[in-house]
Amino acid sequence: MTKGQKMLDPETIHRNVNGGWLRPAVFGAMDGLVSNFALMIGVAGGTKAIGAENTTAIVLAGFAGLLAGAFSMAAGEYTSVASQAELAMAEIELEKQELRENPETEIRELAEVWMKRGVSETVAMQFSKELSNNFDAFADAHTSEEFGVTAGALPSAKLAAISSFIAFAAGATVPLIPYMFGFTEILYSMVISLIGLFGAGVAVSFVTTRTWWYSGTRQLLIGSGAAALTWFLGTTIGAAL
Ligand SMILES: [Zn+2]
Repeated sequence: MTKGQKMLDPETIHRNVNGGWLRPAVFGAMDGLVSNFALMIGVAGGTKAIGAENTTAIVLAGFAGLLAGAFSMAAGEYTSVASQAELAMAEIELEKQELRENPETEIRELAEVWMKRGVSETVAMQFSKELSNNFDAFADAHTSEEFGVTAGALPSAKLAAISSFIAFAAGATVPLIPYMFGFTEILYSMVISLIGLFGAGVAVSFVTTRTWWYSGTRQLLIGSGAAALTWFLGTTIGAAL
């Protein structure tokens, strides 16, 4: 350790690489913001092309987009996490069956994992044998070495579904905020959405190695690109109707 270097708690040195709750929350919110902003802009452009910007249509589209998107995100997340957990549970059961049927082979197998990392055979075998007296700990050691999961640490599908619903809805609410306060021009919605996009980009920079301004600007450009595209499509389709 050199002078001036901060003393770090060894447990907190690493970024939480599998993201924890922050990563999915930020990306879910960004998803909601980009898609609802683009949707509302598209409807604004379309109704303008027909005659006049129709606030009712824009707000209805915004709320429908919020709910549809949040439900679809939650359902997708639920299915994905649940099937992942079911697959893992099936593999864990299979491994436990092997542990019951061939305890000696499995003790040897686990010992070899550590021997490959340089632990002597005597120590590795003794460790593995002692660990096998606690069936659950022995099973956890096997499953985490063999396929990276343990029975007690599987992600919850319900929690994943609820949090992605909330995250998407929170992001999708942003372009609707001005309308809630009686500002019924799409311009206000655009301004607050662009600020939100920049903010979401900055939030992403906390979980990546990018600088806040790079991340913020990138998100701003991506989001406004999507909105510009739907505005164009909205006006083109609106004009053709
Ligand atoms: Zn095994």
